[in-house]
Amino acid sequence: MVTESPMPSAVGAGSRERAGRIGRRARPRSPDAGVTRGEIIQAILALVCGVAIFAVDTFTPLGSAVAVLYGIVVMLASGVSHGWQLVRLAYVCILLTVTSYLLVHGVSYGTAPFLRFIVSLSAIFIATALVLRNQASNEALRAQAALLDLTHDAIFTRSLEDRIAFWNRGAEELYGCPAAEALGASPHQLLHTEDTADVPAISAELLRAGHWEGELTHRRRDGAQVVVASRWAVRYDESGRPVEILESNTDITNRKRADAELRRSEARYRAIFEGARVGIWSADYTGVKARLNELLAAGELAGPCAPEIAAHARTAEGFMPDLLGRITDIEVNDALVRMSGARDRADLIARVDQMLAPEATAPFSGLLQALVGQDVAYEAETPFRTFAGEPLPTWMSVAITRSDGRDRLLITVTDLRPRRHAEEALARAREDLAHANRLATFGEFTATIAHEVNQPLAAISANGAAALRWLDRPEPQLGETRAALERIIRDGRRASEIVAGIRGMLKKSDPQYARLDIPQLIDDVARLVQRELQARGATLKVRTAPDLPAVRGDHVQLQQVLINLLINGAQAMAGTPGPRTLEVNAELADDEHVLVQVRDSGAGISEENMGRLFGAFFTTKPDGMGMGLAICRSTVEAHGGRIWAERPDGPGALIAFSLPTAQAAAA
Ligand code: ADP
Repeated sequence: MVTESPMPSAVGAGSRERAGRIGRRARPRSPDAGVTRGEIIQAILALVCGVAIFAVDTFTPLGSAVAVLYGIVVMLASGVSHGWQLVRLAYVCILLTVTSYLLVHGVSYGTAPFLRFIVSLSAIFIATALVLRNQASNEALRAQAALLDLTHDAIFTRSLEDRIAFWNRGAEELYGCPAAEALGASPHQLLHTEDTADVPAISAELLRAGHWEGELTHRRRDGAQVVVASRWAVRYDESGRPVEILESNTDITNRKRADAELRRSEARYRAIFEGARVGIWSADYTGVKARLNELLAAGELAGPCAPEIAAHARTAEGFMPDLLGRITDIEVNDALVRMSGARDRADLIARVDQMLAPEATAPFSGLLQALVGQDVAYEAETPFRTFAGEPLPTWMSVAITRSDGRDRLLITVTDLRPRRHAEEALARAREDLAHANRLATFGEFTATIAHEVNQPLAAISANGAAALRWLDRPEPQLGETRAALERIIRDGRRASEIVAGIRGMLKKSDPQYARLDIPQLIDDVARLVQRELQARGATLKVRTAPDLPAVRGDHVQLQQVLINLLINGAQAMAGTPGPRTLEVNAELADDEHVLVQVRDSGAGISEENMGRLFGAFFTTKPDGMGMGLAICRSTVEAHGGRIWAERPDGPGALIAFSLPTAQAAAA
């Protein structure tokens, strides 16, 4: 006879055999499913019993209520017959009982056999009813067990003696362990619950509170680790004694892995954020964008572009502070705090409006344009101010991300002060070098300079002597004297011009950018180097295009460029046979550039040296420094121009440079 009570309440007695039965019965099996061997035996037994009872009841003179035993037939048949089948069997048993009674006793009432007959019929009826009720509850149980198998969670029950009594399909799948193997085993040994879980403590807590939940690490049958969210609950019997424990485990291995990866990536991001040497400002600008759109819709803001936003910022008081107040969820790193001179992060966030120098309005407006215009990035040089009020030139780079209707900006701020200092130091070093180069060049020119200055001085002396002679005449020749005095004045001016020019070249002063006439510049240089060139047997030929536009530059620096090129040219021609001609040609390269070429008829430049002429310290001269062309290049480039060497057809070398016209430089 089947006596199991519904699952999971049926489990709990703790015996392995009992638990095994329940575990197996928990598999959902419809009544129509194939019958087991045990059930066939039961059916045969039922048939044999039925036949035997009929025979004994009908053909033996036993006066007892043998037909009562038909109830056992019904019970035995319950394994293979269900519902109406069982009812029909009960009818057969009743029919057999009636038949036996009529055959043995005929139609008689009120006798003792008749009473036994009634008792037998009642027994068949009661047994059938009980079996039907039991079958119905078993069906409900099967349905519940089938439900437990539908879930992906691993669900099992275990006795208080720690033996598994029920093991659902989810558990089979999660742990890779069939129910047949799991049933009766200790779950913590079977699943290798990790030592980190204090199972005795958990069990104690479970018995105290009636339930427990937490995370456990188990091992599958194949050795792989699984992390589960585990919920334990105690089932009590009617008297309140704990009977068994229901454990439900949800596999969270992948979620844990994803969580761990997320945490790792967050930690990485945090480390970058905190450790970055650039300042970082990350914040939610959704409110700022909404406000700008409101102003645009209301027509208060003329347009969504940076110039219009900047114009509005200049005229509408409180516009910028209002926008800054709408930035939320702000995160800043220490580098930005240090850069700004704020006390701490909170101080920086609270007073960030003080960093917005008036000059920062334009780049900040560009950022707002990018925000409203759905751009994803923006960058600009932005002059902020430190909290101490000092200029803070920066490069601001903005990445805009949009998700869930929110606009988040990640702004990196690079402090340009160290770079500016380095640039200034570099410019100073370049000027010092150029100055040293000029001194060195003029050192070589001393004879020329002496001659240049001497010439007008000698002329002044001669004219002075002549003037005196004209005056000493019995009849002073005033006209001649006047002419001599005029020449003295002219030569005096000339001498002082030469001295001023040389002083200008030798004096160390900051570059003075002004409009410069290239033909005039060439003329000045030609006068300075004329004698030097003559001494080297070189003839200078200058050709300048008419109406050449002016360039913008420093007179002394550009003179130095030309002097270096001319002296190099003259040196390259030293010792070469034939006429030594230095040609200087100035013309318009294109609408925006003036081109100056210096060509000599010297030894020329080898292919190999072409690429390194302008490098510092490259020289082929025994007493050369190798800085002349390097200085020419840095000077020309500082003027926004370009310098290069060419190997012209025929002898010699050609060094050319181009400079932007004053108009182009101003644009
Ligand atoms: P330095 O005159 O001290 O050598 P520069 O930088 O002025 O330094 O010149 C570097 C080198 O370039 C020279 O040593 C020379 O080899 C080459 N060079 C410069 N100008 C010419 C030229 N006009 N013709 C041939 N070689 C030249």
